[in-house]
Amino acid sequence: MRLLIVEDERRMAAALAKGLAAEGFAVDVTHNGTDGLHLATTGDYDLILLDIMLPGMNGYQVCAALRAAGEEAPVLMLTAKDGEYDEAEGLDTGADDYLSKPFSYVVLLARIRALLRRRTRGGAPVLRVGDLTLDPNTGTCRRGTQEVVLTTKELAVLEYLAVRAGEIVSKSDILQHVWDFAYDGDPNIVEVYISTLRRKIDAPFGRRSIITVRGAGYRLAADRG
Ligand code: CA
Repeated sequence: MRLLIVEDERRMAAALAKGLAAEGFAVDVTHNGTDGLHLATTGDYDLILLDIMLPGMNGYQVCAALRAAGEEAPVLMLTAKDGEYDEAEGLDTGADDYLSKPFSYVVLLARIRALLRRRTRGGAPVLRVGDLTLDPNTGTCRRGTQEVVLTTKELAVLEYLAVRAGEIVSKSDILQHVWDFAYDGDPNIVEVYISTLRRKIDAPFGRRSIITVRGAGYRLAADRG
């Protein structure tokens, strides 16, 4: 899942980006409202962390402009102190949730995951595709009752395929949602991850759940064997 952080306190933005990247999110960072709006409307983000007091445009303006542009990615507003902003105003401009600084990283992560769950699967904590289950909160993956150990990045690729199970997902979609914009390596990295995932979640169980759709991408399907 790809996140955008719009936060002018650079140390805080960098710390958040580092922590969230370690959780397997692709994270882009910008330090002002104008760039934030531009990135959020041109990039394909799954969630936006938006500070309120920002140079350029403030968070309320960014959020209102995003919604006016039809951008539906959930927005989690961050603010300096409780009471320094009007919570109702934040929600009026189309924010989905808000968090007062200083916040606990654990709480932030829980809120992010809750917003992503609400958006991608109606709130269900676990993704199921046939007998494949994936719990992004705990980072666990099972085929039937057997646990499959995946790295953070493998899990992120599989989560993105699972969120869009049954659909054709292009390689560039996967790159967009799993790798951040600082990634300038070989786009064929996606193939490497797909083949590793097949070796872990399919081959040992005699399944073919990750289907290659030639020239288009991949589709994760329920294959009960
Ligand atoms: Ca700020």
